[in-house]
Amino acid sequence: MPDANPQNKSTEKEWSPEPATLAPINSWPPRPLKLFKWLFGFPGFLWPENILLLGITLITWIFLTPDLNTMSTFEVWWIALLLARNIALILILYGGAHLYFYVYKLQSNSFKFTKQPLATDSSRFLFKSQVLDNMFHTLVIGVPVFTGYEAITYWGFANGYLGFIDLGTNPVVFWCWFSLLLLVAPMIHSIVFYFVHRLLHTRSLYKSVHSLHHRNVVVGPWSVLDMHLVEHVLYFSTVVVQWLLALHPVNALFQIHIAAIYPLTGHLGYEKLTIGDKEKYDVGGYFHYLHHKFFECNYGTGVVGLDKLFGTFHDGSKASQATLRDQIRAKRKATA
Ligand SMILES: [Zn+2]
Ligand SMILES: [Zn+2]
Repeated sequence: MPDANPQNKSTEKEWSPEPATLAPINSWPPRPLKLFKWLFGFPGFLWPENILLLGITLITWIFLTPDLNTMSTFEVWWIALLLARNIALILILYGGAHLYFYVYKLQSNSFKFTKQPLATDSSRFLFKSQVLDNMFHTLVIGVPVFTGYEAITYWGFANGYLGFIDLGTNPVVFWCWFSLLLLVAPMIHSIVFYFVHRLLHTRSLYKSVHSLHHRNVVVGPWSVLDMHLVEHVLYFSTVVVQWLLALHPVNALFQIHIAAIYPLTGHLGYEKLTIGDKEKYDVGGYFHYLHHKFFECNYGTGVVGLDKLFGTFHDGSKASQATLRDQIRAKRKATA
């Protein structure tokens, strides 16, 4: 596995947040009150992140997607339309976050994990610029890949190749299944991401594919989809779960949007978003930031605690760091 990037050896002062935690659904024995607060509180599981994401999905489906029947054969016009609106979506969200934090610096360095800037004049990145390189891999490779998955989804549903589970004709059962799949979509993302990500950290795939994403030790909003083509194809394959389970294309679209938008918080480079002088909103990005910093930990997300289960959880504390170091040493000894 790779050695820590030289950027990590910096002695620059870093912002150290409270230790990263897992969602209360991972607690055993269960803690009902905490679970309730996490589900319905602010910020919590539903609000604002997943409700906003669902809002984006519904607006996209209702106003910005051609009628399903017109997508039963692959045609350039509707695929180009999907591509254009997906590029616009990413430009607005990633570009907006980049402008807010890194161009206009509206939050300065408050709650910024590291004071190190995004790389400029670095031969590790295309055009010698981390931001331009990240934008290139996002807009030229990432967005077309997830647009491809989206196009296959509509084509499959329009032709009856997908949505084939027979739950009878009862609309109550249909909408209950629809809602349940919306509710568990972030968990599906978390589980698929964990295993795909661990696969990407095997020696050969890391070297040839995933190392591209890890050039971003200091992360910014455009780093989310700074990935190799193979990683994009594997990463967005999470929608296949919805191809197998969903009865409505919106479930699949929501799963794609989770993969495209949800990790934005993990790549902002900031722990909290401040609004005015007092309001501070924890964006929950510390978990994945630690992965970029220490590589061999936190492969999943804080929603489903597979990292805890498989001993790869790092909460940012010195104790976690010592455990990780011991694990790496033991692994190196075993493979020596
Ligand atoms: Zn990342
Ligand atoms: Zn990784």
